[in-house]
Amino acid sequence: MKTVNILRDLNLNIVDNYFEVLTPDYIFIPIVDENYIIIKLNTHILKGQLVYDDNNIKRYSSVSGIALKIGKLNNKKYLIIKNDYKELSISKRARNVDNISKEVFLKYYSNDDIKKILDNKIHTLYINAIDDDPYIYNKYMYLKNNIKDISDIINNLLRLFAIERVEFVIKDSYRDLLNDYKININYNIVNDIYPIGNDKLLRKYLINRDDDFLINIEDILDMVYEVKKNKPILEKYVTINGNLIDNPSVINVKKYTYLKEILSKFNIKEKNYSIILNNSLCGKNISLNDCIITSDINGVIINKNNNNVKMECTRCGLCYDVCPVNINPLIKSEKCIKCGLCNYVCPSKIDVVKEYQDD
Ligand code: SF4
Ligand code: SF4
Repeated sequence: MKTVNILRDLNLNIVDNYFEVLTPDYIFIPIVDENYIIIKLNTHILKGQLVYDDNNIKRYSSVSGIALKIGKLNNKKYLIIKNDYKELSISKRARNVDNISKEVFLKYYSNDDIKKILDNKIHTLYINAIDDDPYIYNKYMYLKNNIKDISDIINNLLRLFAIERVEFVIKDSYRDLLNDYKININYNIVNDIYPIGNDKLLRKYLINRDDDFLINIEDILDMVYEVKKNKPILEKYVTINGNLIDNPSVINVKKYTYLKEILSKFNIKEKNYSIILNNSLCGKNISLNDCIITSDINGVIINKNNNNVKMECTRCGLCYDVCPVNINPLIKSEKCIKCGLCNYVCPSKIDVVKEYQDD
């Protein structure tokens, strides 16, 4: 598999700073169709209350407060809730999972694809705990901060399903996780190369038996909330990093917080900067005023404005050589995993992904 040691190339350090930003003044809950809002405006909403339900998408308020109005940001609609900072929540008791039966576990856990995997006799269940971008450290921090909950779920998986062994797959730079000897978790350490954290590539790299499977640590996080804590996930880990950020950090924020409010906690070293979402090599550039933290936002990268002048393609073939899925980056392909390595190596500074692979 073709990969690059970007951590070394870009001289990036591991992000080991963590803090919480859990008191937004307002939250902005994305709305596709107003008819599926199931609460009344100008009423009081509890934290954890279901406010939007179109059968496929369920959205819960991450704060308690007043449902103010439906508003628009960058042409998208949001239900805006004003925080009362009281954290009044729908009370549901956490479950004791020590004696839970397989049937009960499966009743509370909702992901059918993972349930199908658990239906097999499994030799090794690998859990992908590698962040799929060299600037992002959410999974590393999640493992570090929640090892007890994770370990409880793993013990249950081993007890309830036909699984011989569970291994968390981490990269070399996450080695300090091994220092927590109090919890017995098996780690499989892979080289610190990008994009090894991509599920498809990691599966190809690790799995050579029919009875080995790979799932993601986010699936374990869902089990922690759905089966053990008995509540929706209302918070989100997001890494704030980049060459203009003084204190790169993983932060825990309320879902639906306005990014501008979060970035006010950071010192950005220059006035002119680019904000890139999720993928440092081919992520979308966004405006500070447009972004709300939803489940799909993992990283916000603040870099110096890129003044690279794009040149003509010289047909050098470097993008082709580096592509980990062995396609020609200059021809649109469904196999592209949007890793951005072609952009990273291109000497002509062409945004290959945007020009050839984006829809
Ligand atoms: S074409 Fe797609 S998969 Fe290949 S290097 Fe570029 S972004 Fe990665
Ligand atoms: S790396 Fe850049 S210049 Fe070279 S072939 Fe690919 S797009 Fe063209």
